[in-house]
Amino acid sequence: MRSIQSKIGLTFLLLAFGVVVLLGLLVSYKIERLFIDRLHAQLETETQVIVSLLKESDKNKGRESIASMLNAISSSSNLRITLIASDGKVLFESWVPDSLLHTLGTHVALPEVIQAREKTVGSDSRSSKSTGEELLYVARFVQPRTFAHPSLASLQYVRVAMGLTEVRGIINDIRLNVLFVGIIVLLVVLVATRILSKAISKPIVEIATSVSDIKAGNLDRRLPVLSQDEVGKLAELINEMTDKLRRDIEQLKKLERVRSEFLGNVSHELRTPIFSLKGFLETLMDGAIDDPQVNREFVKKAYAHASRLDTLLIDLIEISRMESGEMKMSFRYFDLSDFLSQVKEDFEAEAGKKRQTLNVEIPQAAVSVYGDKERLRQALGNILDNAIKYSPDDSSILLKAAERDSRVEISVEDNGPGIPEEHLPRIFERFYRVDKTRSRNVGGTGLGLAIAKHIIEAHGSKIQVESEVGKGTRFWFELRK
Ligand code: ADP
Repeated sequence: MRSIQSKIGLTFLLLAFGVVVLLGLLVSYKIERLFIDRLHAQLETETQVIVSLLKESDKNKGRESIASMLNAISSSSNLRITLIASDGKVLFESWVPDSLLHTLGTHVALPEVIQAREKTVGSDSRSSKSTGEELLYVARFVQPRTFAHPSLASLQYVRVAMGLTEVRGIINDIRLNVLFVGIIVLLVVLVATRILSKAISKPIVEIATSVSDIKAGNLDRRLPVLSQDEVGKLAELINEMTDKLRRDIEQLKKLERVRSEFLGNVSHELRTPIFSLKGFLETLMDGAIDDPQVNREFVKKAYAHASRLDTLLIDLIEISRMESGEMKMSFRYFDLSDFLSQVKEDFEAEAGKKRQTLNVEIPQAAVSVYGDKERLRQALGNILDNAIKYSPDDSSILLKAAERDSRVEISVEDNGPGIPEEHLPRIFERFYRVDKTRSRNVGGTGLGLAIAKHIIEAHGSKIQVESEVGKGTRFWFELRK
């Protein structure tokens, strides 16, 4: 895998290289064009000057006077001057002695001559056949009978040429300079990208190291948020994610603890009745069954323990269904007074056994409340059952409903022993009992209030308690009207 740093570096370098090469090519092309154009213009002027000079030449003097004038111009300006007749024959050539002129072929087909014929001025650059040097040729077309001098009667084209070697030298010089500047620019870019890419990749590399540390289990590791840019945001997000992960893991651990605690509690709760049941059955088998003095009583006791086991299992199944979210609720409006009368009826016999009075207080007007009637009957039943179980004989219990704006408060109040304050926050926990023996003696499973709490909370409400030791206890919750 290529690192971010080398990716950025390579991209920038390639980009800079491309730009430098393109710019270099463009600059050298432009400079070459500029030089050639200027040279071209200069040569064009030269042809004009030569034409003017030829026009003014004294016709009484011989051809030699013209030749020497042209030779003088040629040597002083380093120019090659050629006079060409209309048929292409060379009349004068500054670089070729007159005696050899006849060896030169016809010039009609030269590109600059053809162009001059069509457009007055023509040009071409090519290597000279005689010297091999690259030359720029410019030819000018002259109208017939322009010149008075007899040796110039057939002259049709004045051509000048100049070597490009010098110009090429200058252009190459400039190209070298461009290359040099280009290399410097590339070096600067190289150093700059190294610094820049390092600055960009450093925090990312740091994040990667920290994340692998977190992955290894170090959830307390915090990434430093050094900037407000995307990288800073990333570090922040990773920190938040780690926090959440840690909380989730803590939650999971807690749940796991609760689960194993629950399992321990359940086994413990089941052991007591099973142990007693076994004990009575064993005693009976060992002969007590034939003892009319105890046999009926032992069978009754065995039955009582079996019943207790049954109640415990029913409550256990109930609470595990509630906690796994399997409890199905069916909400609807129902009449409050009917409901409370039903609950009272359910427990009248139980209270009667202890000669307790069960009072019900409800609002005068008919009130409907919203909820799962059967589940509420179970919840309120558990609370009322406790009031009966824990209150002494001959006491009275009040089951009350009172309107509170859009809600109805339902409460159960007893004159029992009360619950010491330090236990109040925990009595809704599974298997939590203030007095273990007492609870077992009255047939409690330790799950009644936990079940009631689940049901009330499923109604979007809260079960509450206030109690005073020696005076009594009041449980209450609210329902929607
Ligand atoms: P249990 O089956 O033991 O009654 P609960 O969950 O119903 O379990 O109640 C938890 C504990 O709260 C009881 O063991 C008891 O100590 C206490 N408690 C509940 N209701 C009352 C009450 N009305 N008066 C006194 N103590 C109570």
